[in-house]
Amino acid sequence: MPVGTLATVKSISQDLLEELGVQILLGNTYHLYLRPGVEQVRKLGGLHGFMAWPRAILTDSGGFQVFSLNELRKVTEEGVTFRSHLDGSSHFFSPESAMAAQIGLGADIIMAFDECTEFPAEGARLKASMELTLRWAERSKKYFDEHKNEVPWNRSTSGAKAPEQGEPNRSAEALRHSKAELNRSSGEMRTFGGIQDGPTQALFGIVQGGMDLALRKESAERTMEIGFPGYAIGGLSVGEPRGLTREVVESTVQHLPAEKPRYLMGVGTPEEIVEYANLGIDMMDCVLPTRAARHGLLFTSEGKISIKQARYAGDEGPLDPLCGCRVCERYSRAYLRHLYASNEVLAQVLNTIHNLSFYLDTMRAVRHSIALGRGARFLSEVWSRPKP
Ligand SMILES: [Zn+2]
Repeated sequence: MPVGTLATVKSISQDLLEELGVQILLGNTYHLYLRPGVEQVRKLGGLHGFMAWPRAILTDSGGFQVFSLNELRKVTEEGVTFRSHLDGSSHFFSPESAMAAQIGLGADIIMAFDECTEFPAEGARLKASMELTLRWAERSKKYFDEHKNEVPWNRSTSGAKAPEQGEPNRSAEALRHSKAELNRSSGEMRTFGGIQDGPTQALFGIVQGGMDLALRKESAERTMEIGFPGYAIGGLSVGEPRGLTREVVESTVQHLPAEKPRYLMGVGTPEEIVEYANLGIDMMDCVLPTRAARHGLLFTSEGKISIKQARYAGDEGPLDPLCGCRVCERYSRAYLRHLYASNEVLAQVLNTIHNLSFYLDTMRAVRHSIALGRGARFLSEVWSRPKP
């Protein structure tokens, strides 16, 4: 999942994302809550309508971002008080308000409010943090179950807000149509207890427990007892060594049900996403392809390239001879290097297109390899070969 923090995947337009084959992207609740505000997005049809993106969206709970504000937050049983990084104003997130915000934003998949434990942390601290996350998961689910029909694109329930006047835009219309298709059985909306039940979001639980494998197992089992349609492994990529990340993922994923989506939050390099897919992870998100692109770091089949280097100044070859993206088909390394060195906006656009294309191609290859029955292990071996 490419990351679209502020309802935009930086420096690339939605039509290009569609062309690249992006099926789902991620928005950050904390950022969208601060700007432009949940109510504003809700009134404009939720994130789908607002950003004209008819495909799937996932929002995080805001927990991770809030916990990144070390000096600016205070955690209690009730929730987290934090200061905005924009203007220093004081705000409060609880499991309930984080669910309300995510329902208002209207992504397809939303995340339980959790505490992302810092690294390193002592055993007692890890245990207490995991217990808090479990209590917050229950509160998240309870609030979600009571309010899930209030999602902006659910127009079928009497409890839901009536549609705004005026013609809805085509993307929102297409989205409602596809949602209805997904959730319709034999041409009728499902009906429970006389109340029309329209399509709702899917709320995923998050496994915590730091780097303690026993706590991770306990967190996985107790989160599954609460019951969610998908499970995420959170609390990684928080400064721990990469070998430790892999160890925790490999151990934790075994305790999560293979028939439900297993989502590893906030990873990784192309090599790592192949490795994690091989361990059984189904979903990942990372800012790396887009952020690295804006810094001139490009992922290719020949390894990572820093396009600003003078060695590319006269290089007429494509960025990646094995990549079929519109950038590699058209432009030379010399031109891309010139754009970057000249601080041209187009450098960010083209670099982002290529990096996202490379990541998406990698995941397509992973899916293909799995479909052929070879698993992602085959690709891991290809990746680990020495680069020319
Ligand atoms: Zn390319």
